[in-house]
Amino acid sequence: PGGVCAEVRRPCRFLVLINPQSGKGQAQPMFNNHIQHMLQEADITYTIKITERQNHARELVREADLSQWDAVVIMSGDGLLFEVVNGLMEREDWEKAIQTPLGVLPGGSGNALAASIHYYTGAQPVSGEELLVSCGFMLCKGLVSHLDLTSVCMASSKRLFSFLSLAWGFVADVDIESEKYRYVGAARFTLGTLVRLTSLRVYKGKLAYLPAEESQSLSSPAQSVSFTNDSNSSSVHSSVHSHLSRNSNCQNHLLHNSCNSNNAHKPKFNGEPPVTTQGPPDSLLVPLDQPVPAHWTVVTEEDFVLVMAVYQSHLAEDLIAAPASRLKDGNIHLIYVKAGISRQALLRLFLAMEKGTHLSTNCPFVVYVKVRALRLEPYSPKGTITVDGEVVEYGPVQAQIYDRLARIIAG
Ligand code: ADP
Ligand code: MG
Repeated sequence: PGGVCAEVRRPCRFLVLINPQSGKGQAQPMFNNHIQHMLQEADITYTIKITERQNHARELVREADLSQWDAVVIMSGDGLLFEVVNGLMEREDWEKAIQTPLGVLPGGSGNALAASIHYYTGAQPVSGEELLVSCGFMLCKGLVSHLDLTSVCMASSKRLFSFLSLAWGFVADVDIESEKYRYVGAARFTLGTLVRLTSLRVYKGKLAYLPAEESQSLSSPAQSVSFTNDSNSSSVHSSVHSHLSRNSNCQNHLLHNSCNSNNAHKPKFNGEPPVTTQGPPDSLLVPLDQPVPAHWTVVTEEDFVLVMAVYQSHLAEDLIAAPASRLKDGNIHLIYVKAGISRQALLRLFLAMEKGTHLSTNCPFVVYVKVRALRLEPYSPKGTITVDGEVVEYGPVQAQIYDRLARIIAG
């Protein structure tokens, strides 16, 4: 298949992180029953680490000697992969570390990335154990593709890296409220949606974005902007480079240092959680206390039912939020629903999303646009924002996509 950038050599060694609490709490027996023989036959040896608490996986990959492993595989939901991605990006050697091939086995209740990579193969949709087996086969094939990551910046200047989604409003609330239905597995989102529909509300805020075409037309001749001494990690470097060259103002923005620094040794504020200072500089963003750049689009409506920015096709095993999205298309698929939509129409929308047909229903309240960066400023003092299905600091937030920053075994 096109787009494969490498193949995992054989024999090889995988680090497999299993979250015993994910989904219905069956990740480990499911791995034993469906996956271990498959890997053995494919000449893949592996070391299992059972995660013991939240952030355990993040700490493990932050400290790990990655040269031991040909891939880091998670058997859990999207939450554990979110930890792994951020653990890798928090390392001094992030640029090399984030190129470690990642693998996903759906063991959680929210298995959006696993469902997405299955969907990209063009195979018939499957769920549950069949999805697990499909993902197991992909690991055995060992084809490595690039994966887009989005950098998400919060008002505290904390930065996170995201592979799946940024959500506010209805979807974020369902994400979190449905945690308590984890025992029903992937159906938790459907159940959560139905419950939330009974208390449908409006979320007020300001939304702005950099349209994908706009950022392309601004591209200038390649500039040699280097921010690393490691010239070996050429592929990440060139992808970041192509980013920088897309924005003619990047030098200025680099000087502005919007919400992160390439300089890892910036002083930290007392009492703040550790700030991710590693990673590429956000060349498309200006600081949150400044207006968005003039060539951005500012949405005139300020009343929303939901705002979701997704960079993979699926938001859950049975929710195809952005059917046109691919592993590394370099786009944030921004979908928002304006206030005024009826409960019935919203329900229809979510039902259509199970097949991914919701964007072609011509619902006047739904807007879909491909962007490279966005900013969201909620007005209400309290609320929920999720990144990859996990709650993050609430408040103004902005994001930009990095095409091909990470690697994943898929296809
Ligand atoms: P699910 O799809 O079921 O939500 P996730 O992979 O998203 O599965 O995992 C949910 C959360 O569980 C993650 O935030 C992760 O940090 C946390 N976690 C990992 N290991 C443990 C553990 N042993 N006990 C409790 N929580 C854990
Ligand atoms: Mg989760």
